[in-house]
Amino acid sequence: MHAECCPVASGSFDIKDLIAAVPNLDKLAVISGEQVVNIGSQDMNDAVWLKLASRLGEVVKSPGTDAVIITHGTDTVEETGYFLDLVTKTEKPIVMVGSMRPATAISADGPSNLYNGVAVAVSPGARGRGVVTVLNDQIDYARNVVKTNTTDVETFRSVNRGPAGVSNTGVVTWFAPLEKKHGTSSEFSVDGLTSLPRVDIIYAHAGMNPDLIDAAVKLGAKGLVIAGVGDGNMTDAALARVTAAAKAGVVVVRSTRLASGIVYRNNEVDDDKLGLVASAELNPAKSRVLLMLALTRTRDVARIQTMFNEY
Ligand code: ASP
Repeated sequence: MHAECCPVASGSFDIKDLIAAVPNLDKLAVISGEQVVNIGSQDMNDAVWLKLASRLGEVVKSPGTDAVIITHGTDTVEETGYFLDLVTKTEKPIVMVGSMRPATAISADGPSNLYNGVAVAVSPGARGRGVVTVLNDQIDYARNVVKTNTTDVETFRSVNRGPAGVSNTGVVTWFAPLEKKHGTSSEFSVDGLTSLPRVDIIYAHAGMNPDLIDAAVKLGAKGLVIAGVGDGNMTDAALARVTAAAKAGVVVVRSTRLASGIVYRNNEVDDDKLGLVASAELNPAKSRVLLMLALTRTRDVARIQTMFNEY
C-alpha cells in the first residue's frame, strides 16, 4: 500500500518531520510527503481550497497512490474536508488528521492521530467512503463532523448522525456508510474555477439588526447563510431583508446557530413564499461551502434546496 501525504500544517513543522516522528508508521504504508501550504487553519481561504482540491485531484489519479492523508489545523478542518469531499472524484480513501495539543505538549495527540489516520487509509472498507477525519480514535465523515470544544482532545463529533467508525492503536472498525452524495456521485468540481462566489454568514441573535444583511449584499455577496436562532429563525426585520435580497437574486440559506438538529423547510418560516432555502442538517460553515459550490452551477432556489437535501 502506498499512501500520499499532502499536508496543510498549521504550525512550523515540515511534513517529513511529522512522518518521521511517528514510530512504526512505515510498517503500515509507504508514505511520501508534500507540503501544499503551511498556515494556521484559521487562515484557510477559498484560494487555498482551490489549490488543495486541484492538487488532490491530480494525486488521486496517480496509479501509484492508494490513499491520501491530509494534515490540517482543527479550526476549519470540518469545512475543508466537506469542500474536498464535494469536489474530489475518487473512490480512494482521503483522510484528514490534526491535533488538539501542540507537538511540545505532554501526551501530544498528533502522532497517534497520524498513526490512526494512516491505519484508516489502508484499512479494508475505507474505499468509497469519501473524505473522513481521524482524531482521538474516532473516524467521522467530513460532511458530518463538527468541532465542539475549544481545547479538549474529545472535540470532533458527528452531532446528528454519529461517527463513521473508530480506530484504536491502528485497529479500525467501520460503521455505516455515508449515504449522502459526495465524491464520485457529486456534481461539483473545481475544474476551470479560479475563484468561488462570495457567500457571507450572518449570525442571528435577540434584537438582530438587519443592517449587516444589506451590507453583505452591497459588498457583492451572491449568497447569504443565516446562522439562525432555533430552527433557522431571525427577527421579522431580518426576515424582511433576506426576502428582499432573495427577490434581488441573492440565494439565502437559513441554517442554525445551534449545535445540532435539522432546519426544516416551510416549518416556522414559509420558505416557498419568501424564496429561501432551508439548510437541513448543514451548520452555517458547511452550508456556506455547499452554497458556494451550488452557485457555480445555478442560482435556482429550488435546485439549490434539492442540493441541500441530497448532499
Ligand atoms: N488554530 C489551529 C488551527 O486550526 C489549531 C490547531 O492547530 O489545530 O490551525
